[in-house]
Amino acid sequence: MHMNERYEKLLFKPGHTACAGCPIPIIVRTVLNTLGKNTIVAFGTSCLEIISSQYPYNAWGVPAMHSAFENTAAIASGIEAAQKKLGNKVNVVAFAGDGGTFDIGLQALSGMVDRGHNVLYVVYDNESYANTGIQRSSATPFGAWTTTSPVGKKIRGNKTFKKPLALMMAAQGAKYVATASISHLPDFKRKVQRAAEIEGPKFIHVLNPCPTGWKFDSSLTVDVAKLSVETGLWVLFEIDHGKFRITYKPKEFKPVRDYLMLQRRFKHLTDEEINKIQERVKEDWSMYEGLEGVKI
Ligand code: SF4
Ligand SMILES: [Mg+2]
Repeated sequence: MHMNERYEKLLFKPGHTACAGCPIPIIVRTVLNTLGKNTIVAFGTSCLEIISSQYPYNAWGVPAMHSAFENTAAIASGIEAAQKKLGNKVNVVAFAGDGGTFDIGLQALSGMVDRGHNVLYVVYDNESYANTGIQRSSATPFGAWTTTSPVGKKIRGNKTFKKPLALMMAAQGAKYVATASISHLPDFKRKVQRAAEIEGPKFIHVLNPCPTGWKFDSSLTVDVAKLSVETGLWVLFEIDHGKFRITYKPKEFKPVRDYLMLQRRFKHLTDEEINKIQERVKEDWSMYEGLEGVKI
């Protein structure tokens, strides 16, 4: 096949402007390649917007519409309603970052679930407003340095734990909810496939290790993603029509320190603070294991 023909067929094209080691293109390609060409995308103001569609460049190989920070889910809802009215069978996907999902876009997302739109909403979570200078969001983990959760005598990084958004979406009645990691691609793909089979609002939360904001070497993205799962900090699960299931359980949990110390955003943490995070992992796992097979 001629190079140009091959390029034309790519659903998210090379030549985008993501930082070296950025996992966003992996996430977008995993979703689009699993769903195929018959897909329309709405994407929020975020790193993804900047790297994919700075005028006059465009990395999208499917119809894709940029929406403002707060309304990705509203735009996706409108696209879905219009396509339904026209009688078109098409996948509608919303992509947004954690800032545009956990904070600014939450009401639009909740409205989309409330109205029951047949949309797959994918949040790629780099745990900060990375695109605007690495400010804290409500997805930023406990202890992490950001420019608005600095490290000094009085404040020692972010004071709160991550908002449990996937559980919130399930509690609201999203038909399918899952977490995913770029280090576990078959699990991620299967979840996208499952979401595509289901009619109604679907939500997938993907951790997006960000070399720029988390301050690790750009060759380590997949290692950081893997360690997030192997330490138990990032739990892979799905909630299919309300039924909770853990999809991957590490045989032996690695200490959270292994994950934290690879990233300079955590380098200030004391043993006591690291223990607090380790304890939290234990608590979370006992909560998640208690949810196995339960209808949320
Ligand atoms: S700041 Fe982080 S998430 Fe954004 S493009 Fe760069 S590596 Fe990717
Ligand atoms: Mg972000």
